[in-house]
Amino acid sequence: FLPHLVASLENVEETYIMVKPDGVQRGLVGEIVSRFEKKGFKLIGLKMYQCPKELAEEHYKDLKAKSFYPKLINYITSGPVVCMAWEGVGVVASARKLIGSTDPLQAEPGTIRGDLAVQTGRNVVHGSDSPENGKREIALWFKEGELCQWTPAQAPWMRE
Ligand code: UDP
Ligand code: MG
Repeated sequence: FLPHLVASLENVEETYIMVKPDGVQRGLVGEIVSRFEKKGFKLIGLKMYQCPKELAEEHYKDLKAKSFYPKLINYITSGPVVCMAWEGVGVVASARKLIGSTDPLQAEPGTIRGDLAVQTGRNVVHGSDSPENGKREIALWFKEGELCQWTPAQAPWMRE
Protein backbone atom coordinates (compact mmCIF):
# COMPACT_ATOMS: atom_id res chain seq x y z
CA PHE A 1 0.00 0.00 0.00
CA LEU A 2 1.16 3.50 -0.79
CA PRO A 3 0.55 5.62 2.32
CA HIS A 4 -0.73 8.64 0.39
CA LEU A 5 -3.33 6.47 -1.29
CA VAL A 6 -4.46 4.98 2.02
CA ALA A 7 -4.67 8.44 3.61
CA SER A 8 -6.66 9.77 0.71
CA LEU A 9 -9.32 7.12 1.19
CA GLU A 10 -10.39 8.95 4.32
CA ASN A 11 -12.54 12.04 4.13
CA VAL A 12 -12.13 12.60 0.39
CA GLU A 13 -14.67 15.19 -0.70
CA GLU A 14 -15.74 16.81 -3.94
CA THR A 15 -16.72 20.43 -4.41
CA TYR A 16 -18.31 22.35 -7.25
CA ILE A 17 -16.45 25.55 -8.09
CA MET A 18 -17.67 27.91 -10.77
CA VAL A 19 -16.17 31.05 -12.29
CA LYS A 20 -19.23 33.26 -12.63
CA PRO A 21 -19.88 35.33 -15.81
CA ASP A 22 -18.10 38.42 -14.42
CA GLY A 23 -14.99 36.35 -13.71
CA VAL A 24 -15.01 35.07 -17.29
CA GLN A 25 -15.60 38.54 -18.79
CA ARG A 26 -12.85 40.04 -16.62
CA GLY A 27 -10.28 37.48 -17.76
CA LEU A 28 -9.93 35.88 -14.32
CA VAL A 29 -10.44 32.22 -15.30
CA GLY A 30 -6.75 31.31 -15.20
CA GLU A 31 -6.18 33.18 -11.93
CA ILE A 32 -9.11 31.44 -10.23
CA VAL A 33 -8.29 27.93 -11.51
CA SER A 34 -4.72 28.53 -10.42
CA ARG A 35 -5.66 29.22 -6.77
CA PHE A 36 -7.09 25.72 -6.37
CA GLU A 37 -4.46 24.08 -8.54
CA LYS A 38 -1.56 25.60 -6.59
CA LYS A 39 -3.14 24.68 -3.26
CA GLY A 40 -2.84 21.05 -4.35
CA PHE A 41 -6.40 19.92 -4.92
CA LYS A 42 -7.23 17.61 -7.82
CA LEU A 43 -9.19 18.90 -10.79
CA ILE A 44 -11.60 16.19 -11.96
CA GLY A 45 -13.90 18.24 -14.20
CA LEU A 46 -13.65 21.48 -16.20
CA LYS A 47 -15.79 23.06 -18.89
CA MET A 48 -17.07 26.36 -20.22
CA TYR A 49 -20.84 26.55 -20.33
CA GLN A 50 -23.70 28.95 -21.07
CA CYS A 51 -26.07 28.05 -18.28
CA PRO A 52 -29.79 27.78 -19.06
CA LYS A 53 -32.17 29.60 -16.68
CA GLU A 54 -33.67 26.32 -15.42
CA LEU A 55 -30.27 25.07 -14.26
CA ALA A 56 -29.44 28.36 -12.51
CA GLU A 57 -32.80 28.15 -10.73
CA GLU A 58 -32.20 24.55 -9.64
CA HIS A 59 -28.66 25.37 -8.47
CA TYR A 60 -29.86 28.30 -6.34
CA LYS A 61 -33.25 26.83 -5.36
CA ASP A 62 -32.57 27.35 -1.62
CA LEU A 63 -32.40 31.12 -2.27
CA LYS A 64 -35.69 31.32 -4.17
CA ALA A 65 -37.39 33.39 -1.42
CA LYS A 66 -34.60 36.00 -1.29
CA SER A 67 -35.17 39.46 -2.74
CA PHE A 68 -31.96 39.22 -4.78
CA TYR A 69 -32.92 35.87 -6.38
CA PRO A 70 -34.20 37.23 -9.75
CA LYS A 71 -31.06 39.36 -10.13
CA LEU A 72 -28.90 36.38 -9.13
CA ILE A 73 -30.48 34.21 -11.86
CA ASN A 74 -29.95 36.99 -14.43
CA TYR A 75 -26.33 37.35 -13.29
CA ILE A 76 -25.49 33.66 -13.51
CA THR A 77 -27.09 33.31 -16.96
CA SER A 78 -25.67 36.61 -18.32
CA GLY A 79 -22.70 34.93 -20.04
CA PRO A 80 -20.64 31.77 -20.04
CA VAL A 81 -19.39 30.32 -16.78
CA VAL A 82 -16.50 27.94 -16.14
CA CYS A 83 -17.60 24.84 -14.25
CA MET A 84 -15.13 22.87 -12.16
CA ALA A 85 -15.18 19.79 -9.97
CA TRP A 86 -12.34 19.55 -7.45
CA GLU A 87 -11.48 16.60 -5.23
CA GLY A 88 -9.46 16.35 -2.05
CA VAL A 89 -9.40 15.74 1.68
CA GLY A 90 -11.28 18.65 3.25
CA VAL A 91 -11.67 20.38 -0.11
CA VAL A 92 -15.17 21.79 0.56
CA ALA A 93 -14.29 23.94 3.58
CA SER A 94 -10.82 24.75 2.27
CA ALA A 95 -12.22 26.00 -1.05
CA ARG A 96 -14.67 28.23 0.83
CA LYS A 97 -11.71 29.72 2.72
CA LEU A 98 -9.78 30.25 -0.51
CA ILE A 99 -12.87 31.96 -1.99
CA GLY A 100 -13.55 34.22 1.02
CA SER A 101 -16.73 35.84 2.36
CA THR A 102 -19.79 36.32 0.16
CA ASP A 103 -19.34 40.12 0.35
CA PRO A 104 -15.99 40.84 -1.30
CA LEU A 105 -15.50 43.95 0.86
CA GLN A 106 -15.60 41.71 3.94
CA ALA A 107 -13.46 38.99 2.35
CA GLU A 108 -9.89 38.83 3.63
CA PRO A 109 -7.06 39.92 1.35
CA GLY A 110 -5.47 36.78 -0.03
CA THR A 111 -8.84 35.22 -0.79
CA ILE A 112 -10.21 35.19 -4.34
CA ARG A 113 -13.08 37.55 -3.56
CA GLY A 114 -10.91 39.64 -1.23
CA ASP A 115 -8.34 40.16 -3.97
CA LEU A 116 -10.48 40.33 -7.10
CA ALA A 117 -13.97 41.71 -6.40
CA VAL A 118 -15.83 44.58 -4.70
CA GLN A 119 -19.54 43.68 -4.63
CA THR A 120 -21.67 40.73 -3.47
CA GLY A 121 -23.65 40.80 -6.71
CA ARG A 122 -20.42 40.41 -8.74
CA ASN A 123 -18.32 38.15 -6.56
CA VAL A 124 -16.67 36.19 -9.41
CA VAL A 125 -16.82 32.65 -8.05
CA HIS A 126 -19.07 30.00 -6.49
CA GLY A 127 -18.09 27.20 -4.13
CA SER A 128 -20.26 24.46 -2.59
CA ASP A 129 -21.05 24.97 1.11
CA SER A 130 -21.11 21.30 2.22
CA PRO A 131 -19.91 17.90 0.97
CA GLU A 132 -23.55 16.98 0.28
CA ASN A 133 -24.05 20.08 -1.85
CA GLY A 134 -20.69 19.42 -3.52
CA LYS A 135 -22.00 16.09 -4.76
CA ARG A 136 -25.42 17.53 -5.63
CA GLU A 137 -23.99 20.44 -7.61
CA ILE A 138 -21.42 18.34 -9.50
CA ALA A 139 -24.24 15.97 -10.52
CA LEU A 140 -26.29 18.99 -11.61
CA TRP A 141 -23.62 20.71 -13.72
CA PHE A 142 -21.72 17.73 -15.17
CA LYS A 143 -22.89 14.82 -17.25
CA GLU A 144 -21.67 11.29 -16.82
CA GLY A 145 -18.38 10.97 -18.72
CA GLU A 146 -17.37 14.61 -18.18
CA LEU A 147 -15.44 13.83 -14.99
CA CYS A 148 -11.95 12.27 -15.00
CA GLN A 149 -10.42 10.04 -12.40
CA TRP A 150 -6.64 10.24 -12.48
CA THR A 151 -3.60 10.26 -10.21
CA PRO A 152 -1.67 13.55 -10.31
CA ALA A 153 2.10 13.15 -10.63
CA GLN A 154 2.46 15.28 -7.49
CA ALA A 155 0.27 13.01 -5.35
CA PRO A 156 3.12 11.31 -3.42
CA TRP A 157 4.60 14.77 -2.68
CA MET A 158 1.40 16.30 -1.33
CA ARG A 159 0.56 13.93 1.54
CA GLU A 160 2.88 11.99 3.89
N1 UDP B 1 -26.02 37.24 -3.38
C1 UDP B 1 -26.45 38.50 -3.70
N2 UDP B 1 -26.89 39.32 -2.67
C2 UDP B 1 -26.91 38.89 -1.38
C3 UDP B 1 -26.48 37.60 -1.08
C4 UDP B 1 -26.03 36.78 -2.11
O1 UDP B 1 -26.44 38.92 -4.85
O2 UDP B 1 -27.31 39.67 -0.49
C5 UDP B 1 -25.53 36.36 -4.48
C6 UDP B 1 -24.01 36.27 -4.53
O3 UDP B 1 -23.62 36.17 -5.90
C7 UDP B 1 -23.74 34.98 -3.78
C8 UDP B 1 -24.93 34.13 -4.24
O4 UDP B 1 -26.00 35.04 -4.28
O5 UDP B 1 -22.49 34.44 -4.11
C9 UDP B 1 -25.26 32.96 -3.36
O6 UDP B 1 -25.46 33.42 -2.05
P1 UDP B 1 -24.83 32.61 -0.82
O7 UDP B 1 -25.39 33.19 0.43
O8 UDP B 1 -24.99 31.14 -1.04
O9 UDP B 1 -23.27 33.04 -0.89
P2 UDP B 1 -21.98 32.18 -1.29
O10 UDP B 1 -22.21 30.76 -0.84
O11 UDP B 1 -21.82 32.30 -2.78
O12 UDP B 1 -20.84 32.86 -0.56
MG1 MG C 1 -23.81 29.48 -1.23
